[in-house]
Amino acid sequence: MTSYVFITGGVVSSLGKGITSACLGAILEARGLTISMIKLDPYINVDPGTMSPFQHGEVFVTHDGTETDLDLGHYERFVRTATGGRHSNYTTGRIYESVIGKERRGDYLGATVQVIPHITDEIKQSIKKGAGNADICLVEIGGTVGDIESLPFLEAIRQMGIELGHDHVVYVHLTLVPFIPTSSEIKTKPTQHSVKELRSIGIQPDILVCRSEQPLPLEQRKKIALFTNVQEKAVISAYDADDLYKIPAMMHEQGLDGIVAKQLGLDLPEADLSEWEAIVEAKQNPTSEVNVAMVGKYMDLKDSYISLVEALMHGGIHTRTRVNIHFIESRDIEQQGTDRLRTMDGIVVPGGFGDRGIEGKIETVRFARENGIPYLGICLGMQVAVIEVARNLAGLEGAMSTEFNKKTPHPVVALITEWQTESGNIEQRDEQSEMGGTMRLGAQEISLKEGTLAATSYGKTTIEERHRHRYEVNNNYRDQLEKTGLRFSGLSVDDLVEVIEIPNHPWFLASQFHPEFTSNPRDGHPLFIGFITAVRKHHEGQLPKVAEA
Ligand code: GLN
Repeated sequence: MTSYVFITGGVVSSLGKGITSACLGAILEARGLTISMIKLDPYINVDPGTMSPFQHGEVFVTHDGTETDLDLGHYERFVRTATGGRHSNYTTGRIYESVIGKERRGDYLGATVQVIPHITDEIKQSIKKGAGNADICLVEIGGTVGDIESLPFLEAIRQMGIELGHDHVVYVHLTLVPFIPTSSEIKTKPTQHSVKELRSIGIQPDILVCRSEQPLPLEQRKKIALFTNVQEKAVISAYDADDLYKIPAMMHEQGLDGIVAKQLGLDLPEADLSEWEAIVEAKQNPTSEVNVAMVGKYMDLKDSYISLVEALMHGGIHTRTRVNIHFIESRDIEQQGTDRLRTMDGIVVPGGFGDRGIEGKIETVRFARENGIPYLGICLGMQVAVIEVARNLAGLEGAMSTEFNKKTPHPVVALITEWQTESGNIEQRDEQSEMGGTMRLGAQEISLKEGTLAATSYGKTTIEERHRHRYEVNNNYRDQLEKTGLRFSGLSVDDLVEVIEIPNHPWFLASQFHPEFTSNPRDGHPLFIGFITAVRKHHEGQLPKVAEA
């Protein structure tokens, strides 16, 4: 029978509840348990797919193509068998959608449908579905205790505690313990109030994880324990870490996994954290340091590209390279030119939607291609590379994606429905391309051509990677583009372009899929390891500075 660890948050948001949950998952897994992880999001959107990155950061895509909260990315990076895709992320909107669907079908047999029990029952069923057969399911509840929206979720997890018993349910509450510099004091009051709030809805936390700048002194931990009715040893100090990957060890040293195991009556082997220690060791002892430019939109909001940033770091871990990422707005490239890219050892253009800064991205590709700087393009970063090659090498003046210019004379990237029409008449499809075309989502099989950079990087010719996009390289232009030396090294089973590369460039590869969603710190990812290796070589002057024609 699966046991549950419920993780709530208090005082303020953005305390790193997702990372804390993921790290707890990692240390429990390191003790031989199988883990599943669920995120419950109290907002009303059915999923985060339509939300602006400004509001919500990255949309993480799971294997089955579900657009989920970015915390699922943390789970998959920290825990091997963490998420079951669509059953691992539920929002209020999705819960209500399901309940209203049942009500319309008459499933409730004429009953008045209410928050308690119908919504809470739906939440409980969803949690159980997402838990699968894991030994322990960790369930993180988004938002902050005291929010109106989170109440049904908290009520549901309260009920599960009663139904399953204290030996099958653990409540962890994450709070903030601020330090007030003017009086040099550590303040426990917000934590006390947050627990009071939680207890007022019937949940007594078993464990408190207290976020603070510095390790919490024993005296403060004692005080918090006393005022919150939590055992002293279960007041864990999660102080700011200079490295994310130190957190599992930090929590283990304070006995977090032991407290969970004891409450659940589990007799477990010692935690094997050697993989996490190896990661920290590699990060702390780099043998080289490189500068990588990431040229895109939303550059002041790092959360928008969190999986990509992490994947580049993983590439660094596995090559013992310190990777400094420079976030550059592509609009700035448009206005100020490519000069600031000169000092870069590698260039990445990430995925994106919308035309803002698109010409800056195209110019960035040109700069990387002409100067022999390692280039990694992801999704939109591949599409702009195709546009750049079309314009500047294939002589297709005005080439563009129909996402940005529906009237382009050379729609080298377009919706499939657009480029498959005999007439090639794009205008007649205007309406559909406004918002539409269906999104290609989730993991799909890709064949890599033998001997290509892609195939040698992966060490195999059949791979699976995740997608999230609408537009595709227009197959009608493939011959013309290939004549320039561009190589289509990866194709989907239905003959869509998945990977491009330029063989006479030191390292130029771009993918229609998102490799960053499957990268994790322990294994790294072949494309990111390959890219950072090339970036290092460029830095060390081992690559030709200018691509040979
Ligand atoms: N906007 C492009 C498309 O929809 C690329 C999407 C992306 O980069 N994720 O095809």
